[in-house]
Amino acid sequence: MIAQQIKAAIRDIPDFPKPGIIFKDITPILKNPELCENIVDAFVEQLKGTRIDVVAGIESRGFLFGLTLATKLGVPFIPVRKAGKLPFTIKQKAYKLEYGTATIELHTDAFEPGQHILLHDDLLATGGTVTAASELIKEMGGIVAGFSFVVGLGFLNGRERITPICDKLVVLAD
Ligand code: IMP
Repeated sequence: MIAQQIKAAIRDIPDFPKPGIIFKDITPILKNPELCENIVDAFVEQLKGTRIDVVAGIESRGFLFGLTLATKLGVPFIPVRKAGKLPFTIKQKAYKLEYGTATIELHTDAFEPGQHILLHDDLLATGGTVTAASELIKEMGGIVAGFSFVVGLGFLNGRERITPICDKLVVLAD
């Protein structure tokens, strides 16, 4: 039900940001408050029974539902940001992209060692970004509680890549 609603709302944009890529544009979802509420409720339902102390959202579309989800769960939200965006002291992790590398950062006081962190993003593609975020969280003494995504691109095998890190994976529309 929720999967169909999400799939119906998402817009495929061919050749964005590069020729040959079909970009999943989630912005039409954001124009539908009822669907947004249903998405957060579905996350809460599917995460029941999982200890979550903190929700970490991946820049930038992971902030959209990440904060709402954290608020609904009654736990803190922390932003995982691209290099150079966070103002306080940071820890960082570089990871490989298809071409080149990228770096993500967290504030050193984002969470306490031993806390259980849910990693959230809008879309799971190869899983490279959340794998790097998981490694950073572990290096800082956190425990990966699970992953949540609005959409998954099954053909890129992100699921296979991240479930060895933590098998609690919620993908609302796969
Ligand atoms: P991954 O690291 O390969 O899993 O890529 C996931 C990251 O790229 C997420 O932060 C997504 O927001 C972004 N991304 C990749 N492809 C798309 C897309 O088609 N639509 C929206 N975001 C995308």
